[in-house]
Amino acid sequence: MAKEKIPRQPMPEQAPEDRARNFEEVPYGYSEQTAILEAGRCLKCKKPKCVAGCPVGIDIPGFIALVQEGKFIEAAWKVKEQNALPAVCGRVCPQEEQCEKLCVLGVKGEPVAIGRLERFVADYERNSGKISVPKIPPKTGKHVAIVGAGPAGLTVAGDMIKRGHDVTVFEALQEPGGVLTYGIPEFRLPKTIVQAEVNYLKRLGVRFVMDFVVGRNSTIRELMDDEGYNAVFIGSGAGLPSFMRVPGENLVGVYSANEYLTRSNLMKAYLFPAYDTPPIKRQRVAVIGGGNVAMDSARTALRLGADVTIVYRRAREQMPARDEEIHHAEQEGVKLKLLNNPTRVIGDDRHRVVAMECIKMELGEPDDSGRRRPIPVEGSEFIMELDTVIVAIGNKPNPLIPQTMPELETTRWGTIVVDESTMATSVPGVYAGGDIVSGAATVILAMGQGRIAAASMHKYLNGAQPK
Ligand SMILES: Cc1cc2nc3c(=O)[nH]c(=O)nc-3n(C[C@H](O)[C@H](O)[C@H](O)COP(=O)(O)OP(=O)(O)OC[C@H]3O[C@@H](n4cnc5c(N)ncnc54)[C@H](O)[C@@H]3O)c2cc1C
Ligand code: SF4
Repeated sequence: MAKEKIPRQPMPEQAPEDRARNFEEVPYGYSEQTAILEAGRCLKCKKPKCVAGCPVGIDIPGFIALVQEGKFIEAAWKVKEQNALPAVCGRVCPQEEQCEKLCVLGVKGEPVAIGRLERFVADYERNSGKISVPKIPPKTGKHVAIVGAGPAGLTVAGDMIKRGHDVTVFEALQEPGGVLTYGIPEFRLPKTIVQAEVNYLKRLGVRFVMDFVVGRNSTIRELMDDEGYNAVFIGSGAGLPSFMRVPGENLVGVYSANEYLTRSNLMKAYLFPAYDTPPIKRQRVAVIGGGNVAMDSARTALRLGADVTIVYRRAREQMPARDEEIHHAEQEGVKLKLLNNPTRVIGDDRHRVVAMECIKMELGEPDDSGRRRPIPVEGSEFIMELDTVIVAIGNKPNPLIPQTMPELETTRWGTIVVDESTMATSVPGVYAGGDIVSGAATVILAMGQGRIAAASMHKYLNGAQPK
C-alpha cells in the first residue's frame, strides 16, 4: 500500500460508558503491529517540518524509522536524546498544535501520529525493563539545588546529574512530579509513569527532599550562602489559582480546580477508604473555564458520580483545552454550556451552594489574546441549580520565592524575568524555567526551558567556586 494510502492508525480506548465510571487510563496504546504500520506512513522527509514544531527538537523521522524496523528500544533511546520524559509527553503534549500540525501528511490528509508513537516506544522501553542508565562522568564537586519537582525541575535534575554535578531537588509537596502528580488525573497520566521517571533520576543519584518549602524552610540565599549550593534552578510552577471575583465565591461548595484535583490525585481520594482523604462527591457540579484544567476537573467529578456542566464564556473554537480532551469529556457525558459566564454563586442559610446565576455572552472584537472578546448580553441572566462550583480559570505563580529574594527581578504578573537564551535570572547563579517564567503553559515548554537552563548552569559552574 502506498504510504499516503495507509490511514492514520487509531488508538484503542475504553468505551465512554465504562471509563466514565473508573479512573483507569482511557487509551490502551498501540500494539507493536499498529506502531510499525503507523511508522510506515512517515515519509522520512529530508527537511522534516515536524521537528521544527517540537519544542525540544526530537529527531522525529529518526525515531520513527527505528520503530518501522521494529527497533523499539533504540527508538526510545533516540527520543530520549532530546526528551527525558517521553512517556509523559506522548500522553499530554498538544501534538496537534506542535509537531503533528507541521507534518507534511497533514496538508492533504492526516498527519503521522507522532505522539502515539512516542508513547509507544517509551512504554515499550519501560515495560521491557531495559531502561538505559547513562554513564555518569566523575563528580565535579559542584552542588545544584532545584526548587520544585515538576517537569522543569526534573529535566534540570536529569541534565545536571548527567554532567557530573551533585543535584538536590527541594519539593514542597509529599510526592514529586508537580502538576503531573497533583493536577493531571490518573485516567490521563497514570502515576506509575511519573514514579518510574522519578525512580530513574534517583538511580542516577538525584537526591529528593520532600515537604520542603523554599522560602519557608530555607531561602534561596540561605541555600547558596549557608548550605553551599553553587547554583539554583527555580521551577516552582504556577500553582496559585485565580478566582472569578463574583459574590458568593466563598460559599461552602466552591473549590479551586487545584484543590479539587489535588485532593483526588495526590491524596488519592478516589481510592477512599483505602486512602484517608474522602473524595468530594456531589450531585450537580459546574466547572468554570475552558482549558485542560477545566476538562480534568469535569471528568474527575463525572467519575465520582456527578452530573457535570462546563460553563465557558467564549465559544467552542476558543476553548484552550486540547481537542482530544474536549472530545473525551463530551463522549463521557460532560455537558458544555458555552457563551455563558457566572455572575454570582447563591447559597442557603447554612452558606452551602444551591445555585449559580449566569449571564449569556456574545463575541465582539478580538482582544489582546487575539480571541474574540466575550460581551454580556444585557438582561439574559438565568439560574443554574447545583451544589458544587469548581473554578478553573487560570493559575498564577506563588509569590513566596520572589518575596523572600527581593533581588530577583519579576514581571507585573509575578513571573520571574530571565534571559531566554540562558534562563539566567537577575541573580548570578540562579536560573528559572517552566510556569514560573511563562505563566501557566505546557509540560514540554517547561522541559525545553529546563534543558536550556541546565546547559547554561553547567557553563556557569565550570567557572564557579566548588563547595
Ligand atoms: C490540571 C492540569 C492539567 C494540565 N494538562 C496539561 C496537558 O495536558 N498538557 C500539557 O502540556 N500541560 C498541561 N498542564 C500544564 C503543565 O502541567 C504545566 O505547564 C507544567 O507542569 C509546568 O511545569 P513546572 O515544572 O514549571 O511546574 P509544576 O508542574 O507546577 O511543578 C512545580 C513544583 O514546584 C513545587 N513548588 C512550588 N513552590 C515551591 C517552593 N517554594 N518550594 C519547593 N517546592 C515548590 C510545587 O509543589 C510543584 O511540585 C496542565 C496543568 C494543570 C494544572
Ligand atoms: S513531517 Fe511527517 S512525514 Fe515528514 S518526517 Fe515528519 S512525521 Fe514524517
